[in-house]
Amino acid sequence: MTDIIKHEICDVAIIGGGPAGLGAAIELKKNGISRVVVLDRETEAGGIPRHCGHPPFGISEFKRVLTGPTYANRIVQSSIDAGVEIFPKTTVTSLGREGRLSLISPEGIIELKAKRVLVATGTRETPRSARKVSGQRAMGICNTGALQAMVYLKNSIPFRNPVLVGTEIVSFSALFTCRKAGIKPVAMLEENSRPTVMWPISFAAKVFRTPLLLNTSIVDILGKERVNAVRISNNNGIEKEIACDGVLFTGQFTPESSLVRMSHLKINKVTGEPIVDEHGRCSDPIYYAVGNVVFRPVKVAGRCWSAGRSTAQWITKDLLENSL
Ligand SMILES: Cc1cc2nc3c(=O)[nH]c(=O)nc-3n(C[C@H](O)[C@H](O)[C@H](O)COP(=O)(O)OP(=O)(O)OC[C@H]3O[C@@H](n4cnc5c(N)ncnc54)[C@H](O)[C@@H]3O)c2cc1C
Repeated sequence: MTDIIKHEICDVAIIGGGPAGLGAAIELKKNGISRVVVLDRETEAGGIPRHCGHPPFGISEFKRVLTGPTYANRIVQSSIDAGVEIFPKTTVTSLGREGRLSLISPEGIIELKAKRVLVATGTRETPRSARKVSGQRAMGICNTGALQAMVYLKNSIPFRNPVLVGTEIVSFSALFTCRKAGIKPVAMLEENSRPTVMWPISFAAKVFRTPLLLNTSIVDILGKERVNAVRISNNNGIEKEIACDGVLFTGQFTPESSLVRMSHLKINKVTGEPIVDEHGRCSDPIYYAVGNVVFRPVKVAGRCWSAGRSTAQWITKDLLENSL
């Protein structure tokens, strides 16, 4: 049995300090909710925008065009100014009945009991393992999120000439990150006959001088220690090799809902997100969910921020009517 070193209580616990969670937190404080805590497993709150060193963020929220990290700093600072308590490096490990959460924090294991809980854990890209692409476990394979964390947070570069897989809006974000880091993708692959987003991907591919190969999928990754080529196939089954030093998988978003999967909350078994009503309330009415953990297709930061604010109104109403 694990030792719980601390018991804490709060009015609303928000899991995830990205745009959705922080948008909700600020609104709850504005509505007079007393103790609002935001828990985030990263070293700092701010969510995905922390990793996106490019604009445009903040247009609807701050009427400014900001880069992701500047935007993340702003939403964190606005939350602190509003009186929100932010706990970074704090991972929520289980969601219990009656709003009981288990946390692992730098202080140890904590049990937090909240009157309401908001799940705002976001989304992530499908990794190589789940895409079932064969080949060695060579170095130089990652997705956009990992690339952005390396480039913007750790100042490191995993490859110089990767093949980029996918043509979603996030693939555009990946192209931007590559340009910023001096990385030149040798090709962009799309298994369908047209890009997932028509514009700006086709345009961006031209500007970045990256050949866009439609009807093409990756069948094998070659290289023992480091990737040195990929084998690709078109829809006629014709295969060829392309020399490269990495593979950048982009998109195919999946909700970051592992916590919900392990809990008593109902989940959509096909898409993986928690089932919510029109107010964002989960199957256990103490729990709500908002942001890209529930949005399909995924939304940009500004949309998640405003959705967080709207859900906060329902949580406030619920608390005022039922438990304060
Ligand atoms: C790789 C990638 C690139 C993207 N690029 C862009 C872009 O350029 N522009 C754009 O507008 N949108 C982009 N997006 C979409 C992005 O999801 C939204 O912009 C926005 O960040 C979603 O906000 P959110 O609050 O729902 O989730 P997120 O911003 O993802 O925040 C969720 C937070 O929850 C935390 N968390 C998750 N699980 C736990 C747990 N168990 N315990 C504690 N904390 C937890 C995470 O650490 C994270 O900080 C991108 C998404 C990805 C995955």
